[in-house]
Amino acid sequence: MEQALLAWYADHARDLPWRRTRDPYAILVSEVMLQQTQVERVIPRYLAWRQRWPTVEALAAASPADVIREWQGLGYNRRGLNLHRAARAVAKHGWPDDLTELPGIGPYTAAALANFAFGRGELPIDTNVSRVQERTGHTFSPRAAQALMDLGATICLARIPRCDKCPLAARCPSRGRRYEPLRRQSRFEGSFRQRRAATLRLVATAERPLGELDQEAVESLRADGLVTVAGKRVSLPAA
Ligand code: SF4
Repeated sequence: MEQALLAWYADHARDLPWRRTRDPYAILVSEVMLQQTQVERVIPRYLAWRQRWPTVEALAAASPADVIREWQGLGYNRRGLNLHRAARAVAKHGWPDDLTELPGIGPYTAAALANFAFGRGELPIDTNVSRVQERTGHTFSPRAAQALMDLGATICLARIPRCDKCPLAARCPSRGRRYEPLRRQSRFEGSFRQRRAATLRLVATAERPLGELDQEAVESLRADGLVTVAGKRVSLPAA
């Protein structure tokens, strides 16, 4: 089954900019951006980021305020801050053997980095990969990681898989099945997450008096290290 998948991938691989490198820093940037943001939205932001901070040392030398500003629009701002902290840790101590020691790096991102950058045999299991494994009942090897991700993203779709186009259809026990809609993500509109994002956007453009801002959102942003509060003025962290 894996051979059929890899043969399909040889012809259908998505051409994504982070697949043209094995630079661990580049792959870390892409993986952190991809954690909760769609591929199409990540591509231009990834390219801009790499242009601005081409190396881990360059990012480590940036101020948190610049990093938070550059991250605006990608959502879940803590990811940007953790990426910055991870870059500082790597610039100082090198890449750790256990990549989950880096801030914001969970088991999935660590496995992706281990596989795509360091060539270690770990299969990063995201929703696409686990869906294909579950439906086919097959356990794929780490070298099929990118192929599984592409199959899950373009053919073995969550609700209505395109089995007629699937290279695994001949041996897949789930061929032709339809699936219930997944539970919708909780609404962003009117949520606390939205209030935090709006508050951070304001502070990212200029320092603001605390009294002008959503205080609860400021407190939560401050607890995450995304803003600092000094003398009733709220600003991005400088260092
Ligand atoms: S045959 Fe259908 S369900 Fe099975 S892996 Fe392919 S797309 Fe998914």
